Amino acid sequence: MKPLKRIAGLKSPSPTWFSQNTHYEYGSANSNNASVCAESGCAHAGSIELTYLGTAGFVIKGAGRTIVLDPYLTRTPLPTLVTSPLRPNAELIQRIIPVADDVLVGHAHYDHILDAPILCQQTGARLIGSPSTLMAGRAAGLPEHQMLSTLGNETIPCGQWQVRGLASRHGKILGRIPLPGNIDRPPQWPPRMRELRHGPVLNWWLEAPGLRIVHIDSADFIPESLATLHADIVCLCAVGRSYRPRYVQEVVELLKPRWIVPCHWDTMMTPLEEPAQMIPWIDIPGLLSEIRTAGVTPIMVPLLGKVSFGSAGISGKV
Ligand SMILES: [Zn+2]
Repeated sequence: MKPLKRIAGLKSPSPTWFSQNTHYEYGSANSNNASVCAESGCAHAGSIELTYLGTAGFVIKGAGRTIVLDPYLTRTPLPTLVTSPLRPNAELIQRIIPVADDVLVGHAHYDHILDAPILCQQTGARLIGSPSTLMAGRAAGLPEHQMLSTLGNETIPCGQWQVRGLASRHGKILGRIPLPGNIDRPPQWPPRMRELRHGPVLNWWLEAPGLRIVHIDSADFIPESLATLHADIVCLCAVGRSYRPRYVQEVVELLKPRWIVPCHWDTMMTPLEEPAQMIPWIDIPGLLSEIRTAGVTPIMVPLLGKVSFGSAGISGKV
């Protein structure tokens, strides 16, 4: 099957958009972090490594834990997407994400949920998400004890991390919310795209000692859910700027981050290890400029690119 880029003439991202820095300091040395690390034998406390998976997907590794958000590596091409059941690429998922402890899914559309159940089966990780997300996990054969249902607003311990879902809402595409509604019973598996309704939509709050991350994986959000939080890093859906007025500015006003990592800017239909292709209406230079104007440092990461965040005085190794 021909890659989409040959059909639609889509453009690849410019290399000049990507951040040159691969390491950022998030604070001064914290003796508590260091002692926790020494007691647990953990080599990672004090340094967090973030890998961008494309779409809204991230692997966040550090503080003795590997947390995965919205993994979607399969990147089904368009013709298969609309004509066939969607089959997760098990070999690719195992190779790219060999280890995971918790897999957080923001909503149950295929580009957020499809690869999550098999990743949990391969790694033993917990699947954490809404009741609709868990229906997909059930359909794929995940046992109940490996899944945790949440509608947000509750703190979930994940080792040294604390995680909380934040009630959100899905953006519209061409004036309509795609595939709305809940998944009330396990769909066939592998599923058809149309069976994967978004269900309750969650953003995620993740807190490790000294570092707070908010993941916003759709083009809209509920300000009240973010109002009392303060994040160091926001992983932000790039589509939102085309959809919601003052999207970037409002996120910055609410969360006051130091860094914003854009996500969901590519078509998610080209093979993971080939050059990505941009969603045509997304203006990355405009987005990066708007982030800078708001006083925040953008960190644009290529697919499978890594960036680390270290606490000064503690090992930067992840
Ligand atoms: Zn969606």
